Amino acid sequence: MPEQHAKLSPSGAEKWMNCSASIAMEAGQPEEGSEFAIEGKTAHALAESVLRNRLDPTLRGRELKGGQNAADYIGTYPLAQGEGHAGLQVTHDMADFVQRYVDTVWALADGNTLLVEQRVDFSDVVGVPGQFGTADAIIITPNELQVHDLKFGRGVKVTAENNKQLQLYALGALEQLSVLQDFETVRMFIHQPRIGNESEWAVSVEELRAFGKQARETASMAVDAADVAEREGIDTLSADIFNPGEEQCRWCKASGGRCKAEAQHHLDSMAGDFVDLTQPLAPQIDTATKRITVISPEELAELYKHADAIESFCKGVRARVMSELTTGHTVPGFKLVQGKPGNRAWGDEKVAEETLKAFRIKGNPIYTQKLISPPQAEKLLKSGSLSERRWKKLETLITRADGKPVVATDADPRPALDINPEKDFENVDAAEAAAEFI
Ligand code: SF4
Repeated sequence: MPEQHAKLSPSGAEKWMNCSASIAMEAGQPEEGSEFAIEGKTAHALAESVLRNRLDPTLRGRELKGGQNAADYIGTYPLAQGEGHAGLQVTHDMADFVQRYVDTVWALADGNTLLVEQRVDFSDVVGVPGQFGTADAIIITPNELQVHDLKFGRGVKVTAENNKQLQLYALGALEQLSVLQDFETVRMFIHQPRIGNESEWAVSVEELRAFGKQARETASMAVDAADVAEREGIDTLSADIFNPGEEQCRWCKASGGRCKAEAQHHLDSMAGDFVDLTQPLAPQIDTATKRITVISPEELAELYKHADAIESFCKGVRARVMSELTTGHTVPGFKLVQGKPGNRAWGDEKVAEETLKAFRIKGNPIYTQKLISPPQAEKLLKSGSLSERRWKKLETLITRADGKPVVATDADPRPALDINPEKDFENVDAAEAAAEFI
């Protein structure tokens, strides 16, 4: 084995535990540093500062800068130290959401031991040296170990149940802390304050160790595959070690235009049991069951299950084609052309304003003014420009339309809408009668 081992990141465990080829396939692919990632880092740095200041507001007897509440940091750049870049400025919204996480963690830590941004080494768990991660918060109670993870995104809802990242953090923490005390249970938490999601899951230490065994087996396969690919080339990887699936492909850097196994998986899921009706039927095909022209509700459900993954795959394919062409590579049958021009804008707004003013148009219709929206008014409240009493008065003027129907799985906790087809038919009948009358 090479001296330097592939990094088994806990946040990527869904990939390398489900698909042994993922680490090899991701190697050398560019990191996508997005605005969201910087926002997340800033929120984590803010939460860390607040919790650390609450644990110890002094440094060698002198009060620390900052504060013990997220709002104390509004307008500051908590990432400025240590990360090599300033990150984002803390806004009222960010402070609000981070405060929710801080309040929950702080309440659970009351009377217990709190460790903030704790490095956890899980090398012994997976049997590969140099593997570690950072847990956002760890709480040690007399018989329980808690691991907390703050997710600042607004996208996919994440649950703590069977969460591989949290279990690896927990196993790493157990390795380090079980020499000091025995734990009966391990409780894991996901905090997604921006979408109001707080998920909690508890397991016994034995159950967690059973997961650790599984992690060790899959880690070994993923690391071996990465070593083989590095030594002998990516094309030498065996097809058996690829295991495409929604959870693992969603965040894989090889997804959408690099990984053939994933592309085949999507093609197969779309093809399903359908017969190509443009071709003559093969004699062995049972025409009674296979030659269908209208998709049944069952088939529709099967296709719908794959819709998100296929959309995300297509997005990746488009991005890869664009990247290939803009870097001068060939994609047969495609080329770059000049796109639609952007919206018209004043080259120099000041000059345009002066020119328009000079025209002295009747009624001076050269400016637009728009009333602020309820969320913008609420921001005035948060910034102190609006009193609570005035906000309460404004609140009575706010209306909100019902949400439009959305498709959800049967497992969704929201009750199904009561759709009355008979009533719909009545409406259709009435519309038809009206049409006839006209
Ligand atoms: S895209 Fe999916 S199948 Fe391909 S390597 Fe990544 S996780 Fe595995």
